[in-house]
Amino acid sequence: MAVTESVPEGILRRQSARESAARTYARVLPIVPVRARGMTIEGADGRRYLDCLSGAGALALGHNHPVVLQAVRTVLDSGAPLQVLDLATPVKDAFVTELFRTLPPGLAGHARVQFCGPAGTDAVEAALKLVRAATGRTGMLAFTGAYHGMTAGSLEVSSGAGDVRATRLPYPNDYRCPFGVGGGHGAELAARWTESVLDDPKSGVRSPAGMILEPVQGEGGVIPAPDAWLRRMRQITADRSIPLIADEVQTGVGRTGAFWAVQHSGVTPDVMVLSKAIGGGLPLAVVVYREDLDVWPPGTHAGTFRGNQLAMAAGTATLAFVRENGLAERAAAVGARLLGSLRSLAEEFPCMGDVRGRGLMIGVEMVDPEGERPGHTGNAEAHRTDWTVGGDRVDGIDGVDGVDGTHLTRGACQPHECEEIHEADGIPGGRGARGPLPAAPELALALQRECLRRGLIVELGGRHAGVVRLLPPLTVTDEQASAVLDRLADAMAAVAAGAARGTGRARRPSEQVPPQGGRAERTG
Ligand code: PMP
Repeated sequence: MAVTESVPEGILRRQSARESAARTYARVLPIVPVRARGMTIEGADGRRYLDCLSGAGALALGHNHPVVLQAVRTVLDSGAPLQVLDLATPVKDAFVTELFRTLPPGLAGHARVQFCGPAGTDAVEAALKLVRAATGRTGMLAFTGAYHGMTAGSLEVSSGAGDVRATRLPYPNDYRCPFGVGGGHGAELAARWTESVLDDPKSGVRSPAGMILEPVQGEGGVIPAPDAWLRRMRQITADRSIPLIADEVQTGVGRTGAFWAVQHSGVTPDVMVLSKAIGGGLPLAVVVYREDLDVWPPGTHAGTFRGNQLAMAAGTATLAFVRENGLAERAAAVGARLLGSLRSLAEEFPCMGDVRGRGLMIGVEMVDPEGERPGHTGNAEAHRTDWTVGGDRVDGIDGVDGVDGTHLTRGACQPHECEEIHEADGIPGGRGARGPLPAAPELALALQRECLRRGLIVELGGRHAGVVRLLPPLTVTDEQASAVLDRLADAMAAVAAGAARGTGRARRPSEQVPPQGGRAERTG
């Protein structure tokens, strides 16, 4: 040990010497947290940080919220058993009552809940088994860019997997539209592709057991599903008796500005996968589903750690606090303000290729401003918004529209007009309209480092690891939100200046290297 090594330096050195090469956050956030309250984390070196990671979205109320601590203490002091497999307890009874109170009305009246092993991925596994048992079918429909966890079945329906039984369908993505058109038209084409895969007897896709989707893709780069597209997925699956599974592991408990993200669209899924915030920061995962799907035999899904009483108590307190204090509405308001300010910032910094999100799930896609855009289609039809999706007008269908009230083009546009029209319509730079710039994971990593230097913890993710993600707690104050913006703007200026000096920042995709560890995403 070096003579001058401090205690935190020693801890970090031992961590890198003893822990797995597969570790993730620890590589890019060299912090040794010793105390935390609300949005603030204090490191062993005495430095304080504003935490926009929130335990990968698990801390809806921030760190050590008094109602959560009180709930945990009450159980500890009561002498109740802390581990009970799946036996009934008063603590669990209270949790289920509170959980069912929050469910979308279409599900609340006739729901069942399965307690799972304490990770989101285990609840995803349970959901897949549930719909396979209920339908007698095996295949699954899943989406490009999806992330559902790290166990085998979850990986199969996530977008990183190779050898899969899942059929991959296009998820609408305004900035990197798979069809090159973006906006409502991109979402419409995605929906039509889904329909044709299901209805074409020669598509090679047999009738599936279910469709699993995230209402806002988190690890995939913060991509909100357009409400009309989600309603269309509901219609397509309902018409064909395919159970719809909403993975709300990350989007749930007020995060996106509604208690559950599916509520923005009014869609009632058949199955909901819930984890992260439902345990108040402690490990807890469940599947909630329509009771008529409950035909799997006893033991189909089991696990030793399904009875974490402290997590259930912390979760009950969190769910109730979010509900009683209107924190979903608060997330919507603060999130809209943050998005607006970040979009203004994007006017200044061309390396901010796209700013998007819903509620307090926000992403900034970092790009190489000097990179080449794919050719613009110039297809006037591509920018029309006077058509419908599943009977809904699509004014609210793109990843931006319907989320914060900004609009894409109205009526047809010519290639040379797109920029102005999109700018006039409130999309910074009309960037999506001109096609996306190459992702710049090096700039995203540099931004994360510069933020850390300024006392701000942010997350990285996205398909190309080029998206800087913000997941502040729903309790974030206006002052804290301003501080986040100040630090981020400052960090962005430093990154842009570094890039301009060409200090080893990514310039072309061929020169980009993935962040340490290869993939910055897939960590939560
Ligand atoms: N689903 C989604 C949407 C997620 O974001 C995550 C984690 N980031 C998971 C599932 C997996 O949860 P866990 O890491 O607890 O297994």
